Amino acid sequence: MKYQKRSSEEQIVLSISAAASLCILPFLVIRIYNEDWSIALLDFVAVATTAGLFGYVYFTKRTLFARWVLSIICIAIASGTIWLKGPDQIVWVYPAIICLFFILPPSLAALLCAINIALIGYLLPSEMSVIESARFYFSTLVTFIFSYAFADRMLYQQAQLQILSFKDPLTNAGNRRAMEEKLIDLLKEQRQQPAEKKACLLLIDLDEFKKINDKQGHACGDDVLKQTAALIEHILTPEQCLFRFGGEEFVVLASNNIEQSIALAENIRQTINDFPFGQNVRLTVSIGLAEYQYDETGLEWLARADIAMYQAKSAGRDLCCLAAS
Ligand code: GH3
Ligand code: MG
Ligand code: MG
Repeated sequence: MKYQKRSSEEQIVLSISAAASLCILPFLVIRIYNEDWSIALLDFVAVATTAGLFGYVYFTKRTLFARWVLSIICIAIASGTIWLKGPDQIVWVYPAIICLFFILPPSLAALLCAINIALIGYLLPSEMSVIESARFYFSTLVTFIFSYAFADRMLYQQAQLQILSFKDPLTNAGNRRAMEEKLIDLLKEQRQQPAEKKACLLLIDLDEFKKINDKQGHACGDDVLKQTAALIEHILTPEQCLFRFGGEEFVVLASNNIEQSIALAENIRQTINDFPFGQNVRLTVSIGLAEYQYDETGLEWLARADIAMYQAKSAGRDLCCLAAS
């Protein structure tokens, strides 16, 4: 059977619902043994719901509904246990708060936590001393603040990692993975509405780049790659995307018709030709252009652009060549 990777959201819901049902199950058995029926019913509902959610997410891979139900269960168990068994059960509030910050976005979790704490504050017996009440509110507040800060930081770092995993570190252009993702989207779009939106792929190869490395050094070669990427980015509109395809090769994906793409390729070629790179570096590029043809794969599209790029090389470099259809 083919192994399918689960998203981090699925993993979180699966592990929390499994842990919750396994941790509450022994209490359910004890409550039944002690014939403590009201809390046994609460524990039974919690075990059955969390086990059901585990099965639901395991088989459907859907997490939105499960996250909401799990959040409500967290609040219901924490408040219900305190309501039925008294302030001794306050310890259940802390895992409930932490769970909420794992399951929901920080702002929503913060709102539900505040409701949870207010509800429990209301359920606490009025004869509780000031010290006991202060201990409850301060300890839940500290748990709340730490959980919020942790969840917020984690979300920020996840977003940063996501951005970094799609960027080429040297040139800041999209990397190969980003290009493959964009190609999947673009191909889907092209197959759905082939006549309406044309798409073009430009394969740009730096001419005799090895000589720059050999004569001026690798560091200078790196600088030239960075400057070239910046020059191309400067020409592109926000809808046109630049990727570093490999070593000294770049790809531009653009939703343009062929005339617009030829003009774009010429603009890129001329701009790089004219640019004073410094250190006696003169750089030119060869560009292969291919307009998307209905039903071809991304690899076939790239291969046609690659052939056109090699035609530009054979014809003397510093040229743009259009791929055969
Ligand atoms: P052509 O005009 O036929 O494309 O010649 P070329 O020299 O550009 O092509 P070739 O494939 O012979 O050499 C590519 C060079 O690009 C070799 C490799 O060292 C260099 N290169 C690849 N990646 C990097 C990089 O990240 N930094 C630097 N400085 N050089 C790189
Ligand atoms: Mg090359
Ligand atoms: Mg080259």
